[in-house]
Amino acid sequence: MSKIKIAELFYSIQGEGRYMGVPSVFLRTFGCNFKCAGFGMERGILSAEAEQLALVHEVTPFKRYEELPLVSTGCDSYASWHPSFKDLSPMLTTDAIVDRTMEILPFNEWRDEHLVITGGEPLLGWQRAYPDLLSHEKMKGLKEITFETNGTQELSKEFRHYLLDWTLNPRGTPGGKRGYEALTFSVSAKLPCSGEKWEDAIKPEVVCSYEEIGHTYLKFVVATEQDFADAECAIGAYRKAGFKGHVYLMPVGGVESVYALNNRRVAELAMKNGLRYSDRLQVPLFKNEWGT
Ligand code: SF4
Repeated sequence: MSKIKIAELFYSIQGEGRYMGVPSVFLRTFGCNFKCAGFGMERGILSAEAEQLALVHEVTPFKRYEELPLVSTGCDSYASWHPSFKDLSPMLTTDAIVDRTMEILPFNEWRDEHLVITGGEPLLGWQRAYPDLLSHEKMKGLKEITFETNGTQELSKEFRHYLLDWTLNPRGTPGGKRGYEALTFSVSAKLPCSGEKWEDAIKPEVVCSYEEIGHTYLKFVVATEQDFADAECAIGAYRKAGFKGHVYLMPVGGVESVYALNNRRVAELAMKNGLRYSDRLQVPLFKNEWGT
């Protein structure tokens, strides 16, 4: 039986992208290839908030995710990848993950809820474990999955075949095939405002390879006109590689004060340029607390 290091497993409403408003189980895996310390900072300056909290954790350990402070700059899910917080993320068997999932679903079985596998970067190290999880007897009623990814990780040949089979396998939902639309890759590609390097973050061929097997869209986190100019440049690179999916703009803002500064302007930018706007409903609804 496979194991996955789980940062969080919770039930909430999807606040972003295609499934905004849909009740969802979130499986947040541990580990990421980025740090995204540039979010909310002036261009070229990196946030130290996650590092400062890591120092605090070493002296006076936080015991649970719910105790961790929210940050207003950098990655808002810092504890899901920062090595100092790995003690808060247990390595769980896929059986244990399924049992916990059934406990938190409102009817203790899959109905209309959707599964979000997020991170960290969920396609980084756990691709070998997901088939055990998704093929579990109690996961048969699951109709839709989203991988929330930064779009840099190729799918292994085996996992790609597995996912194709998952979408086509008539043993899935009552009534037959799940289909292409049941599998979503929500790609939050990182622009320079994240603090990550363009050549590491913008991988059009990888994203096009997701699009071959499931519904795939791009979601760019932006705050300024400069960020939008970067997004346009990135969109050009993805289109040139053959990407056909939708593009969303989403405001920077893991805390309400920052989100409220950006959301309207980003919505207007999206409208002006014929792009989709993604809110971050978890911020106004739940203050983006851990577990929401
Ligand atoms: S890719 Fe996502 S999880 Fe990883 S550091 Fe960036 S914002 Fe955080």
